[in-house]
Amino acid sequence: MDPRQFTDLNPPERILLGPGPSMIPARVTAAMSMPVIGHLDPVFLQVMDDVQVLLRYVFQTENRFTFPVSGTGSSGMETALANFIEPGDRVLVGVIGYFGERLFNIAGRYTDNVDRIDAEWGQVLDVDDIRAQLKKHKYKLLAIVHGETSAGTQQPNIKEIAAAAHEEGALLVLDAVASLGGVPVEVDAWDVDVCFSGAQKAISASPGLAPITISPRAEKVLAARKEKVHNWYLDLTEVQAYWGKERTYHHTAPIHLNYGLREALRVVAEEGLEARFACHADNARMLWEGLEELDIALLVDEPQRLNTLTTALVPPAGDANKVRSALMDDYNIEIAGGFGPLAGKIWRIGLMGHSAQRKHVALLLAALREVLAR
Ligand SMILES: *Cc1c(COP(=O)(O)O)cnc(C)c1O
Repeated sequence: MDPRQFTDLNPPERILLGPGPSMIPARVTAAMSMPVIGHLDPVFLQVMDDVQVLLRYVFQTENRFTFPVSGTGSSGMETALANFIEPGDRVLVGVIGYFGERLFNIAGRYTDNVDRIDAEWGQVLDVDDIRAQLKKHKYKLLAIVHGETSAGTQQPNIKEIAAAAHEEGALLVLDAVASLGGVPVEVDAWDVDVCFSGAQKAISASPGLAPITISPRAEKVLAARKEKVHNWYLDLTEVQAYWGKERTYHHTAPIHLNYGLREALRVVAEEGLEARFACHADNARMLWEGLEELDIALLVDEPQRLNTLTTALVPPAGDANKVRSALMDDYNIEIAGGFGPLAGKIWRIGLMGHSAQRKHVALLLAALREVLAR
């Protein structure tokens, strides 16, 4: 082994305008370079308490069970489904894009009875259709995606969907990975039972933590399980014993990721949720208007567009990948392409958290204008 073959690590500072990770404020990066301490050190226990208080603020909830799962956003998906599904339970999954597909895939690993309700990528689900489907069977839970990053859609009417689920005795599980911290996610006001997110999107912390919150109704369902959760690492009751008062060792919390999440949430709290949502809305509007001026159409109709992620249709003469490479090579800007049914047809432009700044939108629009003119 010749260690000289490995150069010093020197990642470029990119302008990250893709579907995540988003850019991280310098003070969050600084927080992640502080000394490591033990995961039961009183100083770290205070960090954990702070993170929980701050997470309740962004989720707009008073739920006792509110903490970050150790793992990326997908670990939040897995936690939400593993804990609330028992073998034989019937569950319903709303699929309006790739992440709905993933929820459907994960749910099928915990029970054989998974039904789905679909909308075309770029569309959202209709509350009456959901209600009608919920009446057909006895569902344990309904899982849907709030901000569908693959299509750029925001599912509206979450409060009505939650009410429909509760009328039929089902829990509502909401994927807010791409929305939390960028657009309103009102867990208590909407009466959502299980809501999870990811640290690296509109919260602008490092990837690796998945904030989750569980309603008192969901806590009861958890307590009434007949079988142990079929996933030791993500067993919410055991993890809560570490994050709650007991402080029982379960696994070593990722110390630095929690430092970073705490700092990123402190940034959100200082800015204030309302101001943050307004900032995301303003930046999205500036992007949409700028794209329209460049004759680039948007996939999603305005009322259901996701402020944190815009899907733009590649013009007939354009080559989606060439444009993306040129933006990266010549302007240091990352945007993403489409996948699944939208592969090659769209660009996905994220304006999440610290990435959502007017100067970034202005630069991207100018760069796109120049690249497309070539
Ligand atoms: C990014 C994302 C996920 C998955 O998160 P990872 O951090 O990549 O595991 C899940 N759902 C949605 C809506 C996402 O945007």
